[in-house]
Amino acid sequence: MPAQPAFRRILLKLSGEALMGKMDFGIAPDVMGFLAQELKAVVGLGVQVALVVGGGNIFRGEGLARAGMDRVTGDHMGMLATVINALAIQDAVERVGLEARVQSAIRINEVCEDYIRRRAVRHLEKGRVVIFAAGTGNPFFTTDSAAALRAVEMNVDLILKATKVDGIYTADPKKDPTATRYAELTYDQALDQRLGVMDQTAMVLCRDHKMNLRVYDMDRPGALMSIVTGDLSIGTRVH
Ligand code: UDP
Repeated sequence: MPAQPAFRRILLKLSGEALMGKMDFGIAPDVMGFLAQELKAVVGLGVQVALVVGGGNIFRGEGLARAGMDRVTGDHMGMLATVINALAIQDAVERVGLEARVQSAIRINEVCEDYIRRRAVRHLEKGRVVIFAAGTGNPFFTTDSAAALRAVEMNVDLILKATKVDGIYTADPKKDPTATRYAELTYDQALDQRLGVMDQTAMVLCRDHKMNLRVYDMDRPGALMSIVTGDLSIGTRVH
């Protein structure tokens, strides 16, 4: 019997850096192909999938401001970087035979749809992968906050935050061999201990709306599928 999904609708948050693979900048084709296959498996199960993608592989407003640029202009560039990433994901997802739509929080109609909540819900109901681009559309926010916001608006059952390690650790496991992984945490614990789950704005929004979050290692083949079919042993749950 095919596996049954434990979640009806999920939102996956990918940082821009996650798209770089082993490169220092830009978008790695092998990462895109892998991601598309992982998504295809869960969409095939009937799970509705939305994505929010970052832009850190191209530009971050903060970094540009540190180099002397006006912060708001830098943030606009960062948001446009997320649109570039979203288009690449849309292309990769379509190449494996899924339907996808990019919706941007900044109007850029020649390349993608505007963010319209009801339309996004309709796409999801039709089995299309919806990729939310341009963050919240406002400077001084992050795509983590955009992920929390869209997750609440879309009424998703779970946010998945894809990282390079398999969950949240007591310390950086790459630097400290004694670091241990949390199986679960509350948002208040994560906020109090300043654990690098998501930025504080995003976590407060998730906490206040009782959003379920799981932090996991996106590079592990089949991890996404295991999570959506109810495997609770992967990554760290935040609630
Ligand atoms: N950004 C913004 N408003 C938002 C989301 C993003 O101004 O609502 C800008 C900001 O400059 C940020 C950049 O877009 O640095 C890329 O987003 P983020 O840093 O969240 O990307 P990630 O770290 O996930 O790759």
